[in-house]
Amino acid sequence: MMKLIFLGPPGAGKGTQAAIVSKKLGIPTISTGDMLRAAVKEGTEVGKQAKSFMDAGKLVPDSVIIGIVAERVAKEDCAKGYILDGVPRTIAQAQALEDAGILFDHVISIETADEVVTQRLSGRRVCPQCGAPYHVTNNPPKAEGICDACGHELIQRKDDSADTIASRLEVYHAETEPLKEFYQKRDLLRLVADEGSIEDINGRIMAILEM
Ligand code: AMP
Repeated sequence: MMKLIFLGPPGAGKGTQAAIVSKKLGIPTISTGDMLRAAVKEGTEVGKQAKSFMDAGKLVPDSVIIGIVAERVAKEDCAKGYILDGVPRTIAQAQALEDAGILFDHVISIETADEVVTQRLSGRRVCPQCGAPYHVTNNPPKAEGICDACGHELIQRKDDSADTIASRLEVYHAETEPLKEFYQKRDLLRLVADEGSIEDINGRIMAILEM
């Protein structure tokens, strides 16, 4: 059983690293961002509640998030563990997980500077079908504009526009960064330098997991 949280600002590479670690450990990644985007696309009740917050780069209310995560981690494919990507994002969410008896082995915080975030997000492309993340120069797909994993056409996320990026960074520093102290107190926080290639960073993460 290995339960992990990937923390870090938008564009830190949480999704990229989570995909690699998921494959290596054979556990699923749970991305609330992906789940919410799917809900918006399907026009579900959750999607309707979430859309305006997401478009503005604001956080979706904790009550919505806590519900969808609790439901997801109870599924059978989570029995061997899982990676949370992009959740918890507030102290209230972290506290709700803890109160529900959901405890973690490591909280991996990818330490990325604000300037890097801005550069990364503007070049980010994602697969709307399977969620696989790419970057036009740092991590391009084999065929331009096409997902390596499933062959679907890649898109640019609506909230990866310049004005929304600024607002998401502000929200990260105000609401999410305090989680580092929350998990530090529980001796779970592991800082990972965002330096070198995707493989270099993954090497640092795997070293932590093998401790
Ligand atoms: P992400 O794909 O993780 O960058 O999430 C995209 C957007 O979905 C965020 O900007 C929020 O509006 C919303 N979102 C995703 N996860 C959460 C969460 N744990 N708490 C609140 N809002 C979230």
